Amino acid sequence: MTSSFSNLSLAEPLARAVAEMGYESMTPIQAQAIPVVLTGQDVMGAAQTGTGKTAAFSLPLLQRLLQHENASTSPARHPVRALVLLPTRELADQVAQQIALYAKYTKLRSAVVFGGMDMKPQTLELKKGVEVLVATPGRLLDHIEAKNTVLNQVEYVVLDEADRMLDIGFLPDLQRILSHLPKQRTTLLFSATFSPEIKRLASSYLQDPITIEVARPNQTASTVEQRFYAATDEDKRRVIHQVLKTRGIKQAFIFVNSKLGCGRLARSLEREGLKTTALHGDKSQDERIKALDAFKQGEVDLLVCTDVAARGLDIKDVPAVFNFDVPFNAEDYVHRIGRTGRAGASGLAVTLVSGSDTRLVADIEKLLKTKLNIETLALDEPPRTERPASRYAEARPEGRSERYERPERFDRAARSPVQRGGFRPAMPSRDPFFDRPYEAPAAGAIAQWDSAPPNPAARGTPSGNIKPRRKLAALFKPTEPTVAPA
Ligand code: AMP
Repeated sequence: MTSSFSNLSLAEPLARAVAEMGYESMTPIQAQAIPVVLTGQDVMGAAQTGTGKTAAFSLPLLQRLLQHENASTSPARHPVRALVLLPTRELADQVAQQIALYAKYTKLRSAVVFGGMDMKPQTLELKKGVEVLVATPGRLLDHIEAKNTVLNQVEYVVLDEADRMLDIGFLPDLQRILSHLPKQRTTLLFSATFSPEIKRLASSYLQDPITIEVARPNQTASTVEQRFYAATDEDKRRVIHQVLKTRGIKQAFIFVNSKLGCGRLARSLEREGLKTTALHGDKSQDERIKALDAFKQGEVDLLVCTDVAARGLDIKDVPAVFNFDVPFNAEDYVHRIGRTGRAGASGLAVTLVSGSDTRLVADIEKLLKTKLNIETLALDEPPRTERPASRYAEARPEGRSERYERPERFDRAARSPVQRGGFRPAMPSRDPFFDRPYEAPAAGAIAQWDSAPPNPAARGTPSGNIKPRRKLAALFKPTEPTVAPA
């Protein structure tokens, strides 16, 4: 099979758009999927992000929709004919942008709807009529309920990143959406893995699908150099600085497991002189788009992000990805490092492994079926003493431990989120005092804190940091020593 686009007999407007994108030859998923989709058959595709799967489904889909192309201003002449469903807003936005580029020389209209944005502009666009609608499930249901769009003329439906949609808990929403579509249609399902749940979904909604697998599920791209460095929490930022410097890397993604950790790490790196921005689910849509744009424009060196925020983001040529935290789910490791070494370019993925990550690293080894070599990087700068020793020590809300922080597992737009991975297990103590075996005190010994007599006078003059409060004062009032009953 030749992999040149010219062998596809794409319509001139599509061929022109592809040429303009600078694509020289088809990627493996495109070479396999495009001819099948052109025949109108259902497809179940296993393909990682970065393999070119957006073009693999959208080019043949647009080609088949060209028969409906018209310049009429009447909305009735532009019913939704293709529906593309994705798990997150960023991914929906990105796929919609790519589709708009492929369709730019046609009269086919496309639009995107996702949560976190005002519904009004989306409604106006839907009411004008669009042939290709890209959407996240929750927001699409809102529009269906508000009767802003009718899906009874849909000929194609694409379930992209289907595994993640199920992870997030979108199955009920997907079932409701699919119930609004005509039975006679082409369904394309793309997923990074073919789990039993995905196979069940496919058997319910796809008809005799052609299975296309371009890479073994859970396989990492061979163009990515994977490094694992042992680092204490205190040293992780230093490792990042050193790798960036020694490798001459200008831009990188840094993955963390929690939203709180994301903002905090971004602030620390910014203070250390790196232009950094944070991307996580608590950022408004506007902030997220701005952060992405700034990174794309090269105005920002580092994008610190959580898995949900970064899922499937297509930012080309990211030279490196750092896993500041080892991901809770081994599959996320594959997705994270898929941000680098995309479309044939080489990339570097550095994972920082602390003492408590042994089980998580073992999970990655199991998934990749490889023994990972955890190296020690000789750090050439003295430890920074001006900053708090640990990121956990920084500005943590009282009584709250980041170690127990809920990881960001799902898009906030999700209606019935499913938590996977649970809470981070407690990390072993780093204080040698607590690591020492228990030694019984010698008979008659007085505990250190009991040996000094209470000093009521000292309590009258608290340090400047302690505000005297009546209740506390009452609690600490000197009392008579308790005499044990005989
Ligand atoms: P995707 O996996 O669809 O997110 O695509 C990943 C990136 O590869 C996108 O930036 C595409 O523009 C790019 N791409 C898609 N197809 C090709 C191709 N045939 N040649 C070069 N780049 C491509």
